[in-house]
Amino acid sequence: MDVWIKRDDLTGFGFGGNKGRKLEYLIPDVLASGADTVITCGSIQSNFIRQLGAACSMVGVACVAVVMDKPYEFELPEGNGLRAESGNRLLGDILGIQWEVLPNGTWDTLFEALADCATALRAEGKVVYEIPVGGSTALGAYGFLQAANEIREAAFDAVVFASSSGSTHSGLAYGLHGTSTRVLGVACDPEPEIAEEFAALGQALAELVPLPIRLQPSDYSVDFRFVGAGYGIPSEAGQAALEYLAQREGIFLDPIYSAKAFAGLLEMARNGEIGGKVCFWHTGGTPAIFAQADAGHAQ
Ligand SMILES: *Cc1c(COP(=O)(O)O)cnc(C)c1O
Repeated sequence: MDVWIKRDDLTGFGFGGNKGRKLEYLIPDVLASGADTVITCGSIQSNFIRQLGAACSMVGVACVAVVMDKPYEFELPEGNGLRAESGNRLLGDILGIQWEVLPNGTWDTLFEALADCATALRAEGKVVYEIPVGGSTALGAYGFLQAANEIREAAFDAVVFASSSGSTHSGLAYGLHGTSTRVLGVACDPEPEIAEEFAALGQALAELVPLPIRLQPSDYSVDFRFVGAGYGIPSEAGQAALEYLAQREGIFLDPIYSAKAFAGLLEMARNGEIGGKVCFWHTGGTPAIFAQADAGHAQ
């Protein structure tokens, strides 16, 4: 099997990562709206919030981030995962992000807190632009519809990547639809309804462009085998994959997303589920390595 790596970890802006592709289209919309404040939510170690903070400070718009150390779908054991300081949190402080830190709770609690915080800012007279978690709007997905053009001619048998809030997956799914490239998302959170959410986001993208096709939830290949204990918790297989690629190629993965996806790629290759010419889309996230308590050697 021939593995190529698409290095979105090296795109450069705000330490790189896949969120830059979404911000390329989100930020002009923020400016066109006349907003003076952008608000979003996520985990304290969110890569999206880090790149969003960089983009907002560049264009002179305030960036408010409503965060939890670890939002969850299913409650997690205490003491797992990344530290709440250093890593992306430290970079966000340098960028001047205004943090609203909540105690851990469910994603729905976080989304409600985002809405409440936006209402409070509007009451203060701010002109607020709300961005959902991970920048996953139709415009965010458009960034990845465009990105798909960069690999279409390479005619890969499959593209494998970490999937979470969905705009990476829906953009690539539409962008590579009708080609011979299978679009294989490796889930990094265990929400079972993910494919429905991705399909809804994809429909919004198809209406925005507009595109003649409409993908259904069953058109999205979302693989839940490599999530591990939950969102934001490094997995044993992921840590082993992170060490493997670092030691073999000098390429670092991140513990929360790309390491789990690469663990998936290795397992799928072993099982014969993928083969031929495969693209691993490295979505970045490497600053989160520095929020790990230790190297997290696979036991
Ligand atoms: C956000 C993120 C993803 C997932 O992308 P979505 O578009 O949210 O599905 C994957 N990898 C990294 C490193 C990320 O930060």
